[in-house]
Amino acid sequence: MEHKKVIIVGSGPAGLTAAIYTARADLEPMVVEGEPSSTSDQPGGQLMLTTEIENFPGFPEGLMGPELMANMRAQSERFGASFATAKVTKVLMDSKPFALYTSDQQDQDEPAFTCDALIVATGARSLMLNLENENELIGHGVSTCATCDGFFFRGQDIAVVGGGDSALEEALFLTKFANTVTIIHRRDSLRASKIMQDRAFKNEKITFAWNKVVTELHATDAVLSGITLEDTVTSETTTLNVTGLFVAIGHSPNTDIFKGLLEMDDAGYIITNNGTRTSVDGIFACGDVQDHTYKQAITAAGSGCMAAIDVERWLESQH
Ligand code: NAP
Repeated sequence: MEHKKVIIVGSGPAGLTAAIYTARADLEPMVVEGEPSSTSDQPGGQLMLTTEIENFPGFPEGLMGPELMANMRAQSERFGASFATAKVTKVLMDSKPFALYTSDQQDQDEPAFTCDALIVATGARSLMLNLENENELIGHGVSTCATCDGFFFRGQDIAVVGGGDSALEEALFLTKFANTVTIIHRRDSLRASKIMQDRAFKNEKITFAWNKVVTELHATDAVLSGITLEDTVTSETTTLNVTGLFVAIGHSPNTDIFKGLLEMDDAGYIITNNGTRTSVDGIFACGDVQDHTYKQAITAAGSGCMAAIDVERWLESQH
């Protein structure tokens, strides 16, 4: 069992920025970075699934998502952050130090690590359609973030799946770039707020495919070239020739291991107060795991910085 002053769970922009700042404050943080998954062969959060990033300040030519994450990781290591490639499976937080159990430990009776302060940066994941080649086409026509990728679809015919506020917001944003935007919704009425509905109905570039679900993604040279839609009422199938598909059917925060331990909102996002403080003294949360509004790499990185500063001050106050 290893004891650390600070452990950070999660290795996206929030976790790695918290690692850079706590490492530079001589707190020798350890990042439990997760492990390879079905969608990515390396930990590093949602940006590992992104291709080009053009809106992260400081990179006028843009850079690839995995490259940005590798840079952040190297920057944190330069100042002394260490990494454990494992998933946290359980955290005991009713007494101090906090105890963490991980997926790779042999002896499950003893925690793998203990720490004085814990930063939760486990992020959120976009809900997906679970179609056969969906993962391979992410970054090659399929996207979950219009703000990040809309620019690449200038002059193209694209579609958005979903009937909530996110889908309509994404669709409205995408009309700035796309030739046409089809909103595909599985029912004949929207879940989105009235004001968003009004805006979408008024927009000349937006059309609706009601009572439709996407059943197949077609690719040409490994890039999306069209989709098959099935009518939920008649079961009739049609093809839509779109080169972009934005999936906006909601997000789910990665908070399962903290359920019942940290205060969360109805959707499972960790509630933070007074900066990045959670309901347990000594535990801090940053990035998408506590943010269902902005969800950008730069805002996650910003809140990772806040968590590091909050931790440093909290540790000082304890000694
Ligand atoms: P949401 O409100 O849960 O809507 C998800 C939409 O996706 C629903 O229309 C749902 O259909 C559809 N859907 C779910 N699973 C699907 C599947 N497997 N296949 C096809 N369609 C599927 O999620 P959200 O739009 O991300 O919004 C989350 C919260 O953030 C909401 O409270 C929302 O108001 C808020 N928000 C607000 C704003 C804003 O105010 N500007 C912007 C974004 C989000 P059904 O309707 O049939 O269930």
